[in-house]
Amino acid sequence: MGAGRFAPSPSGELHLGNLRTAILAWLFARSTNRAFLMRVEDLDRARAGAEELQLADLRAIGLDWDAPSVRQSDRAEIYASVITQLREHRLLFECFCTRKDISEASSAPHAAPGTYPGTCRNLTPTQLAAKREVRPAALRLRSEATEYTITDVLHGKFTGVVDDFVVLRNDGVPAYNLAVVVDDGLQGIDQVVRGDDLLSSAPRQAYLANLLGYQIPVYAHVPLALNTEGKRLAKRDGSVTLSQLAVHGIDAQQARSMMLASLGLPTNSLQAALAAFDPALLPTQPWVLTTDPASERGMRIAPENR
Ligand code: GLU
Repeated sequence: MGAGRFAPSPSGELHLGNLRTAILAWLFARSTNRAFLMRVEDLDRARAGAEELQLADLRAIGLDWDAPSVRQSDRAEIYASVITQLREHRLLFECFCTRKDISEASSAPHAAPGTYPGTCRNLTPTQLAAKREVRPAALRLRSEATEYTITDVLHGKFTGVVDDFVVLRNDGVPAYNLAVVVDDGLQGIDQVVRGDDLLSSAPRQAYLANLLGYQIPVYAHVPLALNTEGKRLAKRDGSVTLSQLAVHGIDAQQARSMMLASLGLPTNSLQAALAAFDPALLPTQPWVLTTDPASERGMRIAPENR
């Protein structure tokens, strides 16, 4: 039996867009007889208390998972051993570039936008020694591919860039792209459901998973929730977290009904939604939330999201 997962970053409360993605991850896993796991991705964006709040909100909307949640900050030794393994296979190199160095170099003609231009890939021992004096190095993967193709339930075959991406940041923290691949690989996750803002990262991650001998998951990158300005939903949009909604008398069950309705699914229970769930019928457009604090109950959710 494989497994699906939800992997929130505990940077604050989850909003309806995050919770809707969690419901989708649960529906995808449960409808394919997979286990469902929860992983707290707290390597960089952790805020005190957010993990507990997020897990409580996920439970409040009725989601369950099959093992105690895993926390990335407890797994430093695992990431370190994978980094050692990659280093021993000469698959890493030290990089001293700043963000500015990279954006200047990658804006040169012929460079693919946003990709690492290879600046530090082949430094001589003398150059290396000089650069080490100036700043600590990040470690990048010495990729042998420039692109990789993944399979996505909603996007079909998707080919995207693979460059020499960072696996260990220069402050010693494992990079998201390393941690996510190692965790999914070692947790036996073979189905990754998450927001479609991460679609472009999937080829890099699948390339690394393959290199490490892990099974490459099947992906489902689902549409995000947007505010009325077409920007990614955020807590400051108001009336978008369970606690904000509670102030207006809307409880977790009602919030879940709004999210299920936005997916075109029965709203009375998660079991009913599961019975009706069919990825082929999911909306392909973002969910646009209209929050209207002036309305009688403090909010209104646009119903026309199919
Ligand atoms: N922790 C990431 C986020 O909250 C999600 C990573 C993933 O699902 O692969 O954006």
